[in-house]
Amino acid sequence: MTIQQQIQSLRKELNKHNYNYYVLDNASISDFDFDIKLKELEKLEIENPQFFDANSPTQRVGGEITKNFETVTHKNRMYSLDNSYSKEDLLDWEKRIQKMLGTDEIEYTCELKYDGASINLTFENGQFVKAVTRGDGFQGDNVTTNIKTILSIPLSPNGDFVSDFEMRGEIILPLDGFNKMNEERVANGEEEYRNPRNTASGSLKLQDSGEVAKRPLDCLLYQVVTSERKYKTHFESLKNARNVGFKVPKTIALVKSIDAVFDFVNLWDSKRHDLPYETDGVVIKVNNLQQQEELGYTAKAPRWAIAYKFKAEQVSTVLEGITYQVGRTGAITPVANLTPVQLAGTTVKRASLHNADQIEKLDIRINDTVFVEKGGEIIPKIIAVDFTKRPQNLEPTIYATNCPECNSALIRTEGDAKHYCPNEFGCAPQITGRIQHFISRKAMDIDGLGGETVDLLRKEGLIQNYADLYDLKVEQVIPLERMAEKSAQNMIAGIEKSKEIPFEKVLFALGIRFVGETVAKKLAKHFKSIDNLMAADFEALISVDEIGDRIAQSIIDFSNDLGNIQLVDRLKSFGVQLEVSAETLENQTYKLKGNIFVVSGVFHQLSRNELKKAIEDNGGKVSSSISKKTNFIVAGDNMGPSKLTKAQDLGIAIISEQDFIDMIN
Ligand code: AMP
Ligand code: ZN
Repeated sequence: MTIQQQIQSLRKELNKHNYNYYVLDNASISDFDFDIKLKELEKLEIENPQFFDANSPTQRVGGEITKNFETVTHKNRMYSLDNSYSKEDLLDWEKRIQKMLGTDEIEYTCELKYDGASINLTFENGQFVKAVTRGDGFQGDNVTTNIKTILSIPLSPNGDFVSDFEMRGEIILPLDGFNKMNEERVANGEEEYRNPRNTASGSLKLQDSGEVAKRPLDCLLYQVVTSERKYKTHFESLKNARNVGFKVPKTIALVKSIDAVFDFVNLWDSKRHDLPYETDGVVIKVNNLQQQEELGYTAKAPRWAIAYKFKAEQVSTVLEGITYQVGRTGAITPVANLTPVQLAGTTVKRASLHNADQIEKLDIRINDTVFVEKGGEIIPKIIAVDFTKRPQNLEPTIYATNCPECNSALIRTEGDAKHYCPNEFGCAPQITGRIQHFISRKAMDIDGLGGETVDLLRKEGLIQNYADLYDLKVEQVIPLERMAEKSAQNMIAGIEKSKEIPFEKVLFALGIRFVGETVAKKLAKHFKSIDNLMAADFEALISVDEIGDRIAQSIIDFSNDLGNIQLVDRLKSFGVQLEVSAETLENQTYKLKGNIFVVSGVFHQLSRNELKKAIEDNGGKVSSSISKKTNFIVAGDNMGPSKLTKAQDLGIAIISEQDFIDMIN
C-alpha cells in the first residue's frame, strides 16, 4: 500500500466509526483504539503534507480560534416557515395549494420541527466546503470551523448522491447532553443554561472551536437543495441523504392525505416527550419537487411547506411559598414552591421567578393559583396568576430584604436585575460556591474532591476558603460521613497535585468577578505573576488588549481587599503556581521591558497579532491608543494620519517593522 492509500484507508475507516457512533448510535471501536488510529493518521499527514485534506477526521478535533465570523451570502435564500396552530389552519392551507396546483392529489412529508439553530452545509463535488448560519435568510455567518467538530455530519458523504448541493438542517443539543452540561455547571458553581435551543445556537458562535468540540451538539438534516434533477420527491432525496451518511431522523413520514397529516400531528403531540431532543411542532411539506416549484415562495416563506406548532402545555397549581437561592457570586434568585403537579411528563414542584421585577409584574402572591408552562426552559415558568381563584385578603409579596443564608441586608445596584448578598466571606453558599469553582475541572481540576464534599468540609468547619484546602490532613478527613481512608488519601493527593496547575488556570480559579477562562489567560500572559497583576493600576489594566473598565475595576476591588491579599499569600506559601512558569518564560525575553508599544498600519513580515505577541513575549506592553506613556510606535503602511500627527506632537519614536525585528533579535 502506498502512503497515500494508507492515509485514505485510515480516513475512511475513522469516518465509518464516527458514522456508526454518532449517526447509528452503535459504537464499532473503543475510544482508545479510535485515538490510536487518529494519532497514526495525524502522524502520516504531518509527514506527508502533500496529502492534506481539510475534511480529514484529524481536522475535526477543534482548537482553531475564530475572532470574527465572516459574513457569507447564501446561494439560495433560507426562508422561514409559515405557522399554523389548528387543524382548520391546515385545511385552509391544503385548499389553497390544491387550487394553485389544480389537483386534489397531493402527497406530504411530515417531519418534526427540530428546535435548535438552522444551518446550511455546502458541498461541492461531493465534499463539504462550508457551514453558514441562517442569519437574516440572505446572509449568514461562516461557522465552518465550529460545525466541523460535530462528528455526526459526514464531510465526505459515501455513496450515490447528488454532487453539488446544500444540506439544510438544525443544530441541536440533545436533552441528555444538555442536562449533563448543566450538572457540570452547577458543580462548578456556575449558572445553569436556560434551554437547549439557546445553548445550541450560542455554541455556533463560540470563538474557540475546541470548546464547541466538547459540547454534545448534533445536526439533524431536513432539506437537500440542488439544481441536479436526480430525485423527484423530497422524501426520496432525504432517504438518499440518509443512505450516504446524513442524520435524517427516522421519524419522518410520507403520507397521502391531510387526514394522515393529522394522525402524525396527534401521534407526536403526545409522544414528543419521549424524544431525546426537543421539538415544538411538525413541518408539513409538499412531497413532489415539481409541485414545490410550481407553488414557489411568498416574500418570507415557501408556499409548499407549513409548520404546525404544538401548544405549550400549561397546568394550574398553587404557589405555596417563595424561597431565595444564593449563588456563588451572591446573586439572589427567587424560586416558587408549588403544589406538585404533572406537566409534560414530569412532576413540577418548583419554578423560577427570576427577580423582583418579575414577581411585581405578575403580582404573584402566596396561595395564589398560577398557570405554569413548560416551554424551552428546563425549569418551568409561571405565566400568570389565575385572579379568578385568588382568595380574599392575600398579602402582596414583599421581596426578601435579607439574605436567607446569612441575614445580611441585600443590595441591588442600578441597572442590575438581581439583588445581591454583599457578605462575600461570611455567607455559606458563596463560600462553598467559590471553593467549588476553585476545584472545578477548568480551574484547579482537583481529582478526588467533589462539590458536595466541599459543602460538607465547610459545615464541619474544616475549610472556610480555598486556601484552607491545602492545610487539610488525611486524619481530619477520614472521620467525615461517607469518607473512607482511600478516598481521603485520594482527595489530599488531588489537592497536592493541583500545585502544578499553571498560573493562568489558578488565576481563573480565584473567582475574580468577570475574570473568566479567556480573560485569565490574557492577564496571566500579560502580567506574568499575581504580584504584577495585583499591583497594576486601572490604566495598566485597561491597556491590555480586550480588558475593559468593568474587568479592570473588578480586579482592583479584588486586589485591594485584605482578605484576598491574605488568601493569595497563603496560596503562595503552599506552592500554588502564582506566576508563569520558567518553562513558559524560556521562549520569552525581557528585552522590551518597561516599554509601551502602539501598533498601527499594515505589515508585511509579521501579522498584526504576531507583532503584538512578539512585543509581549519580549516583555513589552501593547496599548491600543497613543498617549504620553507610549514609547514606540511600530508603523506599517497606511498608518492613520491623525495617529502620526499625535505621535509627532508627543515626540514618540516611530519605528518600522524591520526596526522592530532588529530590536528583538
Ligand atoms: P421559523 O424560524 O419559525 O420561521 O421556522 C423555520 C425554521 O424551522 C427553519 O429555519 C429551520 O431552522 C427550522 N426547522 C426545524 N425543523 C425543520 C424541518 N423539519 N423542516 C424545515 N425547517 C425546520
Ligand atoms: Zn448571604
